[in-house]
Amino acid sequence: MTVVSRILIAEDEQRIASFVEKGLRANGFATSVVTDGNAALASAVAESFDLVVLDLGLPGRDGFDVLRAMRHAQVQTPVIILTARDEVGDTVAGLEGGADDYMTKPFRFEELLARVRLRLRSPERPSEITVLRHEELSLDLRTRRARTPKGTVDLTAREFALLELFLRHPGQVLSREQILSHVWGYDFDPGSNVVDVYVRTLRRKVGAERIQTARGMGYRLGS
Ligand code: CA
Repeated sequence: MTVVSRILIAEDEQRIASFVEKGLRANGFATSVVTDGNAALASAVAESFDLVVLDLGLPGRDGFDVLRAMRHAQVQTPVIILTARDEVGDTVAGLEGGADDYMTKPFRFEELLARVRLRLRSPERPSEITVLRHEELSLDLRTRRARTPKGTVDLTAREFALLELFLRHPGQVLSREQILSHVWGYDFDPGSNVVDVYVRTLRRKVGAERIQTARGMGYRLGS
C-alpha cells in the first residue's frame, strides 16, 4: 500500500507557493496551500500533515510565531522554514525554536525536494541512493562528480544539478521550462538561453551524444 504524504505549504507569495506546490504534486505528494500565519497554524493543528513548508514572512502571524504555537500545542510535524538570505541569522534561532530545516530563497526545487524526502523518511527505510547511473555514465551525489568511460569529471553546481535532473529522468524529453524551474528555481527569465549554454558545456564534459536535442521540445538523456 502506498501512503501519500500530505504537505502543508504556508507561503504568501503566490508564485513561490505555486512553484513549490506544482513540484511537490509532480513528485506524488498531496499539498494544501495557506497564505497567512493564522491559517497556517489552524491547519497545522487541526489536520494531520506529514510535513509543513513554512515561510517566515507571513501576514497575520509570522513563521516563528506559527512554529512556536505549533510546538506549544504539541504538534510535532516536521517543519522546513523558507527564509530570505538576510534572515539567516534569525533562522538559525528558529531551528533552535523547533524547526527541522530551512531553505534560503531563492532555492532550486531539487534542493527542497531532497530535504522534504529526508524529513519524511522513516528511520527503518533503506538509505537514499547516492549514485545515479545511466549506461556508462554515473553521478555520485555526495562527491558531485560524474564518471564516464573516459574518466572522472568535475562539475560546477549548475552542471551537477542539470545532470542530476537528466539522470533522474532517463530517456524523457525535458522542456527548457522544466529544466529552468528545476535547476535555476523560480527566479529566472523563461526567455533565457541559459539552458542551451549549460547543455553545451555538459556535453563537452560527459560526451555530446548523451544529451540529445528533441527539436522544438527540449533535451533528453539518451544512450
Ligand atoms: Ca513571505
